Amino acid sequence: MSTASYKIDFDELKRTVSMEQVIAYLGLPRLKQRSPKQWKGACPFCNGVDCFVVTSDGGRDKTGAFNCFKCPAGGDQIELASLVRGNPRKDPNGAYAAAKELYEKLCAAGEALTRSNASPQPRRERRSGFDAEAYAKSLDPGHEALTGLGVDAETLRAWSAGYANSGVNRGRLALPVATKDGTIVGYMGRTVKDDTPLLTFPNGLDPQEHIFGVDKVGSGQLFLVRDPLDVLKAFEAGCGNTVCFLTEDIKSIQLECLAALMDERQCESLSFF
Ligand SMILES: [Zn+2]
Repeated sequence: MSTASYKIDFDELKRTVSMEQVIAYLGLPRLKQRSPKQWKGACPFCNGVDCFVVTSDGGRDKTGAFNCFKCPAGGDQIELASLVRGNPRKDPNGAYAAAKELYEKLCAAGEALTRSNASPQPRRERRSGFDAEAYAKSLDPGHEALTGLGVDAETLRAWSAGYANSGVNRGRLALPVATKDGTIVGYMGRTVKDDTPLLTFPNGLDPQEHIFGVDKVGSGQLFLVRDPLDVLKAFEAGCGNTVCFLTEDIKSIQLECLAALMDERQCESLSFF
């Protein structure tokens, strides 16, 4: 297993960095926003009028796409950045350079847009290319939209959680989804109002495969709650041994995971709230 090479997972990058962020970062002034998910305007490549369309939910995986009706330009965030940087269409080297640029400047961190001295060095990477540390920094644990939730900003900070101003969790409380060893594999969004769905997940993150709070479980009694927010409240109240499933319906495989966790961490019993 090599960890030395600097690999970027293009699909993960496209899920993490929105088309909106890429447009703002590249600076395409002739594009006008036509709807929350669509921009239209002059083509930066053929200069055609009103023939260039960008969507934040288009493309094969609904992660964003652009298209010109007058010239062959079209593709995803990475292709857009590559073309803007002057590379030929569908150029693998250009695409790699563009992906690297987007990853380093924008990945998961809306704030990176305004940070001019973003480190050019590859950050400590997961195989997925998701930089949890940078993403956590882009979150706002003290945001006023969170005041009604009943959890202190300090607690949110301790959990690397906070209000998301941008990205897939925008307008929601972004909560880390971690493995048993504490590795954050992504962020889910919990509503901060009384709307549904309660939780949203980025593409590629299967809620069935995770138990919230799993990394903080120790021996003794284990508590199971229905809402990740209740895990945070319990933590704040001094009860770290609280977990939550991330689906409404619980499959047997999830119970098996929980049972295995209880064995492993020597939790003698489970109380359900
Ligand atoms: Zn064009």
